[in-house]
Amino acid sequence: MKAGIYIRVSTDKELQESSLEYQEACCSDFIKGNNFELYNTYKDVFTGTKTGKYNKRPGYKNLINDAIEGKIDVIIAKDLSRISRNTFELEKLRDLILSGKIHLITLEGAVDSTKGNIHYLSTYILIYSEEARMIRVRVEQSKKTMAKNGLFIGSIAPYGYYCVKGKLYVRNDESPKIIQYIFDSFVSGKSAESIAKELTENNIATPSQLSNKKGASSKWQASTIRKILKNEHYIGNLVQGKTKSINSTNKSRVENSNYIIVENTHEAIISKEQFNLVKDIINSRKSSSKVSRKTHLLSNLIYCETCGKAISLRNKDYICSGRLKYGKKMCCTEKIKQIDLLNLLTENIIDKIDNSDSDFLLNYIEERLNKNISKYKSTLNNLHMKKNKLENRKKEALNMHLDGCISRDKYNIVVNESDNDINDTLKNIHSIESMLSVKDKIDLSRDFDLLKSRIIKSVSLNPQILNYFIKRIEITNLGVPKIYYRF
Ligand SMILES: [Zn+2]
Repeated sequence: MKAGIYIRVSTDKELQESSLEYQEACCSDFIKGNNFELYNTYKDVFTGTKTGKYNKRPGYKNLINDAIEGKIDVIIAKDLSRISRNTFELEKLRDLILSGKIHLITLEGAVDSTKGNIHYLSTYILIYSEEARMIRVRVEQSKKTMAKNGLFIGSIAPYGYYCVKGKLYVRNDESPKIIQYIFDSFVSGKSAESIAKELTENNIATPSQLSNKKGASSKWQASTIRKILKNEHYIGNLVQGKTKSINSTNKSRVENSNYIIVENTHEAIISKEQFNLVKDIINSRKSSSKVSRKTHLLSNLIYCETCGKAISLRNKDYICSGRLKYGKKMCCTEKIKQIDLLNLLTENIIDKIDNSDSDFLLNYIEERLNKNISKYKSTLNNLHMKKNKLENRKKEALNMHLDGCISRDKYNIVVNESDNDINDTLKNIHSIESMLSVKDKIDLSRDFDLLKSRIIKSVSLNPQILNYFIKRIEITNLGVPKIYYRF
């Protein structure tokens, strides 16, 4: 068999074990041991943590092209997380494997399609499906609760919603996705300022534009983002009378402690868990972070214990921004090497995962699994609807042809087009159905160790994982980090 080795490294943080040479050596040994013939080694090397770069991956593209063209028979990679972190790509690869175009063997033993062992790949896709955020299927119209109490009385519905007779409904445009994006971005470490800037740059309609206000600004304000992040309407609760006018001439409003919250009055856009996480993060981020500063991986997480100011990154050292600006007289906290702190954080997080009880991990995994399964189910629904529509189109065309409204040629064109679309849709339906059929075969306790080691191996310090585990880091005057974990 002709083999292609795939190797991926990111140079900013890489344990020696998974370095380029090491990965390559492991794969070559495996090829020799199995009497495969090496056709090519495909590499992708990344510097920095920008996901944009990750998506380019010329090595992976060549690998897949060569697989499709039949130049290689089997892909060898050290482990599944090397292949891709993108489940969409993994799904495509899985389809190639199922259609017999290529085999995949991962050295850690999780996948070997030559032996028919690919259930773990499917499990993995189901659990780690990240496009959940993109395709985000909204929870079904939440239960029609005691709506009698909860009527939205504001003049303008919150961004992402529209209001009919006092009830909020999720809009059928991109605005709910924007809300989700704002929450996701904030959790991943972006500031309200940078989110506002990004939305403005991408010409996303502002709340006042969406509500057709006269002279609406196309510029997003950080204050708007902050209001959205605190708006309980997004978790499906109705909040009334939160603020009240001081008097009729003074339009500014004061906090009113007597506000009424009615839970579950409308469909949520944001999960309660995420909303609470955001609340936590807002509380732990200091107001000093409003001052625009160069951001780095630990921005909004790391502060000087002595003077309370944020820690900046300068020449690969973390250093107190007070000291940086005003010198030792202001603050004499020692700096700490970036690489040392990042290595320490990685080790500690791996430790946390490794030592967390299996209940925590099982819950974590199951939560992801269920979320992704509901996403796939709803995609499946949509595909069935699409298929029905196409079939109706054929029927309509037939009627029109029989009524003499369209010619036989036109009728044939419609039928051919529809049949092609129906075929494509059916392929997608089967692909998802086979994904979902894996669900019943998933035995988390069987795969537990594998999943755990996968989670540990794939730990890389991105903003999501940092914010998930870490509440705050303080640097003592001796330059020693104190790390406060969320749990
Ligand atoms: Zn300081």
